[in-house]
Amino acid sequence: MSTLYEELSRVSTYEYSEEEVREFEALHEEIRALKKQRNAVIVAHNYYRPEILKVADFVGDSLELALMAQKVRDADVIEFCGVNFMAETAKIVNPSKTVLLPNLMAGCQLADSAPAEDLAAKIDELKKQYDDLAVVSYVNTTAAVKALSDIIVTSANAAKVVRSLDSRNILFVPDRNLARHVADQVPDKNIIPWEGFCYVHQQITPEEIAKIRATDPELEILVHPECRPDVAKLADAVLSTSGMVRYAKERPASRFLVVTECGLSDRLAMEVPDKTFLKGCKLCAFMKVTTLEDVRDSLLYMRYEIDVPEDVRVPAERALQRMFDATE
Ligand code: SF4
Repeated sequence: MSTLYEELSRVSTYEYSEEEVREFEALHEEIRALKKQRNAVIVAHNYYRPEILKVADFVGDSLELALMAQKVRDADVIEFCGVNFMAETAKIVNPSKTVLLPNLMAGCQLADSAPAEDLAAKIDELKKQYDDLAVVSYVNTTAAVKALSDIIVTSANAAKVVRSLDSRNILFVPDRNLARHVADQVPDKNIIPWEGFCYVHQQITPEEIAKIRATDPELEILVHPECRPDVAKLADAVLSTSGMVRYAKERPASRFLVVTECGLSDRLAMEVPDKTFLKGCKLCAFMKVTTLEDVRDSLLYMRYEIDVPEDVRVPAERALQRMFDATE
């Protein structure tokens, strides 16, 4: 079995010294003890720092984490190592649990690009034009936006959910690149995109990806649908992060270019050591702001508790439940 130092040495976003890894191991011990004391479960998003993923009970993408949060029964506390909207989602689907976000700076620029008041005004305007308008929101939205939505999607299930709707006219919020990807896959719907984007995926250019492919034509290129359409065109597969993990494990290919936030190729490098994961990625400052000390302090001081008022939580849960039902 490899040591934590050997495992973390395979990731390329950070270079940890042996002393730093020893500090991580001591923090892991403290966190495990606090987890027991608080009767907590730790869930972490794929993009989080690898030393945090190593102490999590469950690692996944937005959909997997939402489903996981919904199923938490025995634990009293969900320590949510993700960004704010994800912790809100955990509270929406499992309101009797205490949900903690270890660092309040862990927000999301994409979620912030769709304020609820602006969305409400847009819905009023479009409903005058389209009787059958359905509001489809990506899970990367605030609780208040989810409450205004008919149904929620993730990048793993967006096309399937949109295809299942009776409405032809769809306001798709907030990611315009994912909206265009869905429009390509479900051409009989009129998809009206909200003009938001994720600054991390938007920075990745087709020139960068083509340059890497030219040096290594055997690579399989995996692209996240939040990337620009001209980047998605270069992909062997356009996949959510959970789809990328499955694809990389199952395919016979041994070399992949992983085009999303850098945390995913770090996770793959640790979990699939016999394959090579090159980086066509960028870092998300919101996903990387939380440290292992923040996770320890969060359980120690029971901070920062995420709450969602009932008048928002109930309609937001309805929209999320419709997604769970549509993707069963
Ligand atoms: S990667 Fe983009 S969508 Fe994800 S948390 Fe960061 S800013 Fe938000």
